Amino acid sequence: MTPLLQVDNLTKKYGSIHALDTVSFELEEHTATALIGPNGAGKTTALSMLSGLVSPTGGSIQFQGGVKQDIRSIIGFLPQYPKFFPWLSALEFTEMAARLSGVETRQTTIEAKKTLEFVGLGEVMNKKTGTFSGGMKQRLGLAQAIIHKPKLLLLDEPVSALDPVGRRQVMELLKELQRKTTILYSTHILNDAEEMTDQLLFLRQGKLVEHGSLDEVRARYAEPRIVIEFEGIQELQRFTEVTKWQVTSKGLIVSIDVRLEKAEMSSVLSVLTAGKFLVRRVEWQTASLEDIFMKVAVI
Ligand code: ATP
Repeated sequence: MTPLLQVDNLTKKYGSIHALDTVSFELEEHTATALIGPNGAGKTTALSMLSGLVSPTGGSIQFQGGVKQDIRSIIGFLPQYPKFFPWLSALEFTEMAARLSGVETRQTTIEAKKTLEFVGLGEVMNKKTGTFSGGMKQRLGLAQAIIHKPKLLLLDEPVSALDPVGRRQVMELLKELQRKTTILYSTHILNDAEEMTDQLLFLRQGKLVEHGSLDEVRARYAEPRIVIEFEGIQELQRFTEVTKWQVTSKGLIVSIDVRLEKAEMSSVLSVLTAGKFLVRRVEWQTASLEDIFMKVAVI
């Protein structure tokens, strides 16, 4: 199947800085992809080139196998810091966005109202945007990005600036949109990436350093371990004297590296039960997305 978007060796140089360096990836329709990386990794540069705001210095971007079309009609873009005209109402602003993105003139008001209802701004659509909170502005930004039902929605840090309530609300909206369109979004918030992603793209200093589904990436960096927290230090010492596994301990916690030791949870539990060890918890742990981020995206 032809991917919705194919990016080959995409590069952007600013003088000697490689903001993006020979990055290649594909987006299949109706998938959500998280672009992850620390500050300065090249996320905004990548999204700006895909949305047509910045010209690449190398590589290519193909939509739907290269069919010639005005990309503005198939892309919706929410920049990291969306700007609004404070003297316009949310409805006026969204109508203007509708006209600019090619919605039929007689449909603009109907579509603008429907979209504002969808993003939860139905009741305040006639208020001036200058009075809006950060969360309301982010929803309005989302409304202008989706008003023309784009095939590809590009979102630059859509929830980073929001408080936990606003973040949850916008994440729920995005998950609903995921069923209708294809989403590529950048984020620092790894919990969000875990919540809504079919594909992860890790950028570091302009390079794509890791990619794959959440399960694939997790499997590569899993570092599974069994963690036991003992009731007291004597219990921990008694365990380390009798255990056949090599363990590392910190405070009252002992870790067994499952990859190295081939330890099974059931045999660990049998040893603990047979020795009547007093434990607070026994847990199977693998690397979190944050652990992976620290390894992959941060030097
Ligand atoms: P953040 O998370 O802080 O938004 P980012 O991952 O989006 O970071 P970019 O904004 O794409 O990173 O920047 C990538 C690199 O390119 C950085 O080193 C940045 O300083 C540089 N850069 C970006 N835009 C320009 C520009 N217009 N002129 C010169 N250098 C730029």
